[in-house]
Amino acid sequence: MSFIQLENITKLFTGGDKAAVDALQLNIQKGEIITLLGPSGCGKTTTLRMIAGFENPTKGTIHIDGKEVFSENHSLPPEKRGIGMVFQDYALFPHMSILKNVMFGLNKWGAREKKLRAKEVLELVGLEDYAKRYPTQLSGGQQQRVALARALAPRPHVVLMDEPFSNLDAGLREKMRYDVTNILRKANTTAIMVTHDQKDAFAVSDRVVVMKDGLIQQIAAPKEMYRCPKNCFVAQFVGKTNLLTGTMDTDLQNIHTHIGKVSLPTQWQERLDTVKLSIRPEGCRLSEQGAYCGQVERVTYSGEYQELHVRLHNEPELSEEPMLIYAPVEQDVELGTIVSFDIKPELVALVE
Ligand code: ATP
Repeated sequence: MSFIQLENITKLFTGGDKAAVDALQLNIQKGEIITLLGPSGCGKTTTLRMIAGFENPTKGTIHIDGKEVFSENHSLPPEKRGIGMVFQDYALFPHMSILKNVMFGLNKWGAREKKLRAKEVLELVGLEDYAKRYPTQLSGGQQQRVALARALAPRPHVVLMDEPFSNLDAGLREKMRYDVTNILRKANTTAIMVTHDQKDAFAVSDRVVVMKDGLIQQIAAPKEMYRCPKNCFVAQFVGKTNLLTGTMDTDLQNIHTHIGKVSLPTQWQERLDTVKLSIRPEGCRLSEQGAYCGQVERVTYSGEYQELHVRLHNEPELSEEPMLIYAPVEQDVELGTIVSFDIKPELVALVE
């Protein structure tokens, strides 16, 4: 049995015309960091709330550390599930010192143990010198770490984090992704995070669960998900991509599309007629003698690369989207010029 098991979890809200979460199936291993990723309204917060016990599923069962915490005729209250929560706004008590905030979750512990444990977790998050301060005297990133320390203090089975980085500015957000992952790894804690931000999800997770309309679209490690998205939705949600339709060659590896022949990284298992391809923009490399060529319709400079829109010459009609290509910043690319490029098969995926 996995450490956390969600079986057939369905949630129908009264008044809702379809399930907010639909027959969700998810197994999580001990020590894993998992992220539920998806657009607004896809059901990720509802899933997290059902694991926490703030919301009861309409159907299904939930096990945490081998113990049934929810089934048709049984629901363990949140405080008995061994869960630590980190909320989006941190929910620290402003009138309590940092130490007291962290000790708050340990109310059943003896006074001495409480203090020792609170100091231990403050050290873990690197805030041992801030114990006497109050939340308003800390930066956003420090408050975030206090919230994590408070969640970790009672040694929960699992830490649940709801959009933990959304209140932080871009620079701090990047640092906190790194810090939070490190702290969770050091504490060897199982964690489930909810976010709509692909970068948050990829930076901290062992596996990402992409959801849409209450349904799981794909569960995979970040790299695998980026390289082999299962369907068009996942391909577009976890980064920019070119989606093309084509027909499969008899060799099961080459696809004939409106831009020409595109190769898959490996031979496909079975012959399919019409197929869809996802080609990542960084998989398209400008080169003098490239197999494809077209006119540059748009150049957007991002600092790290240049985003080009290239209209292929052999496009039958202008209704096809131009190809999105990333070019290195040191390369001079003028609007309206003709460029040629190659496509790296490793960044081509067949999608549903
Ligand atoms: P967000 O990123 O905006 O928080 P989400 O992916 O977390 O979105 P949920 O909050 O889980 O989505 O909502 C999933 C669906 O369930 C939505 O259609 C939402 O309107 C609906 N829903 C959520 N809570 C309730 C509720 N208490 N009563 C009725 N419908 C609800």
